Amino acid sequence: MALPGRLPSEVDVVVIGAGFAGASAAEALALAGVTSGVVLERELLPGSHASGRNAAMARQLDEDPVLLKLAVEGVRRLRAKNVDGRPVLRQTGGLYLIHGKSDRAAEWRALLHHYCVPSELWPAAKARQRFLFLREFEFDYALFCPTDGIVDIHALLSDLLAEATAAGFEVITGAATISAREESMANLANVVQQLKQERGQAQRRIEQLDEALKALGSLGGLRGRVGRAQTLGKKRRTMSAAARKRIAAAQRARWAKWKAAKRNK
Ligand SMILES: Cc1cc2nc3c(=O)[nH]c(=O)nc-3n(C[C@H](O)[C@H](O)[C@H](O)COP(=O)(O)OP(=O)(O)OC[C@H]3O[C@@H](n4cnc5c(N)ncnc54)[C@H](O)[C@@H]3O)c2cc1C
Repeated sequence: MALPGRLPSEVDVVVIGAGFAGASAAEALALAGVTSGVVLERELLPGSHASGRNAAMARQLDEDPVLLKLAVEGVRRLRAKNVDGRPVLRQTGGLYLIHGKSDRAAEWRALLHHYCVPSELWPAAKARQRFLFLREFEFDYALFCPTDGIVDIHALLSDLLAEATAAGFEVITGAATISAREESMANLANVVQQLKQERGQAQRRIEQLDEALKALGSLGGLRGRVGRAQTLGKKRRTMSAAARKRIAAAQRARWAKWKAAKRNK
């Protein structure tokens, strides 16, 4: 792909956005052997949006089995990751409050167990005993997942981008990109705007000419002979081919009738 201006003239991969999605994609590509790429970020700092402002919770339980599998794998990787000698994941444990019968909670526990994720199922009273603030909440069971945790999101994001950079990627901030579709829509909007302006100017010119013709007509006694200039925007009347055919046929019929009447005289 060829890139204009201060960007490299050519790279194999362009990643748009330096949030967790873009940074992880760049890191994964780097690990897969890609050595020529850029990460283009619109803001001046990576992670300026959701990625840098989130609540940093690494939770494993999810009702969707695919997301649950991904979350378990994600937390496993985070647990193994250190940045500058410090673990990225602080294992605080996670608590899920459950309404209703224990069956649902038991099902979730079984799911976690299937992926070797430890968990404890507590009745509400036990959970409230352990965490006093839970007295404020209505629930029937609590599922405690001790390997959930809190992520140092800034360390993680910087590390993902650093890994990509080490492999040959360049992270360029303050670089907004727009898609070809957005670009052509923007161009189209400009053309429409320009045409509207030209139309307005032409309309005003015609009105001026109309005024001038009127004035001249009245001066020279030409009233009635000076036609009104046609205003823009009024469509010329057009006739369809079928209508033209019908009129011609009626005309021919009238001629035939007139000729027959003449012959009979
Ligand atoms: C309040 C809040 C709390 C959250 N809490 C948690 C939590 O506890 N745990 C959890 O796992 N998740 C949480 N999330 C979700 C998580 O933060 C997001 O799923 C994740 O950050 C999304 O990453 P992203 O890279 O897709 O998006 P973003 O972080 O938004 O990154 C997208 C980047 O792309 C850039 N960009 C966009 N368009 C262009 C363009 N045309 N050209 C160049 N750059 C562009 C943007 O500037 C931005 O930096 C939370 C989210 C929010 C908002």
